[in-house]
Amino acid sequence: MSKSILFPLHELRLPPTCVICLSPAPKRYPIQQVFTYGRRSHTITVEVPMCEAHFNTASYKGPAEKATGCLGVGIGILAGIFAAIILFLRWETSNSLILKLLFSALFGFGIFAIVWWLIAILIAPRLAVPEARQARNAVRITRYVPEGQLVQLDFVNEQVALLVEQTNGSS
Ligand SMILES: [Zn+2]
Repeated sequence: MSKSILFPLHELRLPPTCVICLSPAPKRYPIQQVFTYGRRSHTITVEVPMCEAHFNTASYKGPAEKATGCLGVGIGILAGIFAAIILFLRWETSNSLILKLLFSALFGFGIFAIVWWLIAILIAPRLAVPEARQARNAVRITRYVPEGQLVQLDFVNEQVALLVEQTNGSS
């Protein structure tokens, strides 16, 4: 059974114990989740303590995940170039050509970043090897409340959740 806790993001302190096996945790693995409310989207990152072994498991990227990461860069570059060319051709402005080129390039770069990021954050992690996915899912960010910047964390290991509650409750 998992256990959830709700805390203000900026006050959240995690004890230096591995969230999977409770041994001392020298490493921190960043978990990320995007929450969209209306037009605003919030990317929430929480650095989760992990022991050396579980950090390595969580960080491991199998061939499928790696390939998707590379593909994301490729598709991103193509989309970016395409977007830049479209903007350059369709944008009628009295501004100088250099300015037009510069804005088209900037726009293209923005599109590249968005496409690459979407593939990297949404698609690649789904192709992770089961062990890596399991380790990364030891803690999940299940909710974000913009008012008060509260995050809800879901812990697979209940003992870890209790430790976190103690760490944050004692202040
Ligand atoms: Zn561990």
